[in-house]
Order: sequence, then structure tokens, then C-alpha cells
Amino acid sequence: MSDCIFCKIAEHEIPATVVYEDDLVIAFDDLNPQAPVHTLVIPKAHHENIIDGVPAETLAAMTHAVAEVARIKGLDEGFRVISNKGEAAGQTVMHFHLHVLGGKRWERALSKGCSRRLRFCAVHRDRVHAMIETYV
Ligand code: AMP
Ligand code: ZN
Repeated sequence: MSDCIFCKIAEHEIPATVVYEDDLVIAFDDLNPQAPVHTLVIPKAHHENIIDGVPAETLAAMTHAVAEVARIKGLDEGFRVISNKGEAAGQTVMHFHLHVLGGKRWERALSKGCSRRLRFCAVHRDRVHAMIETYV
């Protein structure tokens, strides 16, 4: 699509920090990162969102790209994958994309001063859940 910013990134018409690329997908760092690692994985073909007729082959390529991003970025301990569908869910760019979010900044910031491990602390676990809810 001629007026789609992510189509332009896929076609290398506008710059991005590309992390991974193959015939079907491209992954690049988000301009406004919400975590230490925040990379977007998109299909090169224009699909508006995750349920906009994305071929199975493309979905498989995107899953592979997520694994490559995690490997390249060293997200050995885990990461989140989020896709917003529709304005009401917070989608601002109407070209299907997966957010790959990783790193420890949230966990450290949220549990500062707490002697318990985050996953065992109800207070901080609830704060993390509240943050996650703002993303889905
Ligand atoms: P969403 O709100 O789920 O549609 O996510 C769109 C994401 O695209 C946001 O996190 C933006 O920061 C990001 N974004 C928008 N324009 C660019 C760009 N030119 N390069 C990299 N990331 C971008
Ligand atoms: Zn597009």
C-alpha cells in the first residue's frame, strides 16, 4: 500500500534498524521502545491485522522471525509477543505487526526495594499484570 509506513520499511524506502529479514517478513526495532528490547516483526505483504487473511506460510515465517529476534537480541530468559488488532485495542499502524518485548527493566523497576522474587510477590505480580493489561 502506497501510504503505509510499514510497507515503506518493508521495501527499504524509509530507514529502520533491521534485525532480521527474509523473503516474507522483516523485523526492525520500534522507534519508541517500551522495554529494553522492543522489536516489530511484520509481513512484507500488506495485511491490516492478524486476522486479515494472512497466509499460513507468512504466519510461520513470522514465528520463525520472532525466534530469530529472540536469538539475536539474547532474550534467553523469555519475552512477550503482542499484536494489537483495531484502534480500540491500541493499534496505531494498520499493517499487521508483532511486538517482541524483552529485557528486565520492567521487572526491576516494578519490584525495586522488594526482597522477594517478583513471581512470588503478590503486590508486584499484580502491578505487572496491570501493565500487561494495558498492552492487550
Ligand atoms: P501499534 O500501536 O500496536 O499499532 O504499534 C505501532 C508501533 O509502531 C508503535 O510501537 C510505534 O512506536 C511503532 N512505529 C511507528 N512508526 C515507526 C517507525 N517508522 N519505525 C519503527 N517503529 C515505528
Ligand atoms: Zn502496509
